[in-house]
Amino acid sequence: MKTLCKLTKNELTTDFKKIIKIVKKPKFICEKCARVAKDKEYLCNPTALKK
Ligand SMILES: [Zn+2]
Repeated sequence: MKTLCKLTKNELTTDFKKIIKIVKKPKFICEKCARVAKDKEYLCNPTALKK
C-alpha cells in the first residue's frame, strides 16, 4: 500500500476498512497533507503527534 497522502478516491473506497485501522489511533501526522496514521510509513512527510 502506498502512503495515505497519495491515495486516490478509488483506492480510498477500496481500502476503506484498512485505512480506518491505520488512522484510528494515530501517532504521526503528515506536515504537508495534515493526514494522520499509526505508522510513519503511511505518510509522505511524517512528524510524531506527541512530543
Ligand atoms: Zn503527506
